[in-house]
Amino acid sequence: MMIPHYWYNINVDLPKPLPPPIDPYDGDSRIALLMRILPSELLDQEFTALRYVPIPDEVRELYARIGRPTPLFRAVGLERALNTGVRIYYKFEGALPAGSHKLNTALAQVYYAIKDKAREVVTETGAGQWGLAVSLASSLLGIKATVFMTRSSYMGKKNRVLFMRVYGADVHPSPSELTKYGREALRARPDHPGSLGLAITEAIEYTLMGEGRKYIPGSVLGFVVLHQTVIGMEAIKQLPEEPDLVIGCVGGGSNFSGFSFPMIGAKLRGEGFERTRFLAVESEAAPKLTKGEYTYDFPDTGGLLPMVKMLTLGHDFVPPPTHAAGLRYHGAAPALSLLTREGIVEARSYGQDEVMEAARLFARAEGIIPAPESSHAIRAVIDEARRLPRGSVIAFNLSGHGLLDQDFYERIVG
Ligand SMILES: *Cc1c(COP(=O)(O)O)cnc(C)c1O
Repeated sequence: MMIPHYWYNINVDLPKPLPPPIDPYDGDSRIALLMRILPSELLDQEFTALRYVPIPDEVRELYARIGRPTPLFRAVGLERALNTGVRIYYKFEGALPAGSHKLNTALAQVYYAIKDKAREVVTETGAGQWGLAVSLASSLLGIKATVFMTRSSYMGKKNRVLFMRVYGADVHPSPSELTKYGREALRARPDHPGSLGLAITEAIEYTLMGEGRKYIPGSVLGFVVLHQTVIGMEAIKQLPEEPDLVIGCVGGGSNFSGFSFPMIGAKLRGEGFERTRFLAVESEAAPKLTKGEYTYDFPDTGGLLPMVKMLTLGHDFVPPPTHAAGLRYHGAAPALSLLTREGIVEARSYGQDEVMEAARLFARAEGIIPAPESSHAIRAVIDEARRLPRGSVIAFNLSGHGLLDQDFYERIVG
């Protein structure tokens, strides 16, 4: 199968215009800041009016080198274990070498940074999946990567730090001594555990401090979702039958949107998927889709980025600890938020214990150890397979594998 030639931009097919990013009224223009720190092509993509955005040949070649198209499996083992007569398919993004879908946008963003003559890309990471994808992409493209990782994860997820370094990235626990914000945070509290907001602030300050640096973000923004639609563009070609139900997990919304938007777009245009339902699954620890408010809010805790209209728990929301660290985000991508508000996407949240049970069942039935984040989608697949009539079809996105998520699996086997 061929790698798609286009990413799909759902903004042109939405039932209502997407509210644009705005600057808050406090003097500083965050949109101007974004123009300074982001690769320029990404901002063009954020506001593009094209329905289909061409994937550069160089990026398509990179996608081939990392193993795209990813496989679409029939979940034979899970079907047998459930015995409900429902057919189940899944797209396996964990087959990519960094273990999750995040590489799809990391490669594109690093490519556009180099087109802008950048010599270094800078980013933040929480649990480390994004940092790992950026490190791998940078090593393939021959550019330096600097990653600010929240100090608590840096201490706890040592294996991801290790592999970022294997790829040649500089990884700094945040707060760090490298930036003014970091030094101030450390002075106030020498054992500061860090936060994603603080890490973003440090990454942006560090980007502005040096020549030839670009900042690249891992979720929520429109161009990130755009790049992830390569998943759904492939899946439409691979699926042998139209699903009745499409499921994915949501942190910031990029893998769910990337998988489902090409199908939702076809449905909105009356070109297929007429009877398909779409279900987004989040963690009870950060329930923005089911309990959030639809309003303008900052995508980052520090309030450095422009405000976007989204379902949000507030940018200062502090989620309780959970092993599915990739789902602990306060808001959902603007287009996904709008589709949820309009009832085109349904949403549900699950707690940690029921998700762990689903992960164990899936690992034993299918042989793939799922990421804790992806296991939220699996929980919904199991519940829906038991509820739907025989002969129904479910397709879901398995956003990553869980082979580096030791803490989660230690709790499962006790
Ligand atoms: C980061 C991550 C997520 C959550 O992020 P989205 O932007 O919602 O996709 C889900 N699954 C895995 C494996 C991740 O690494």
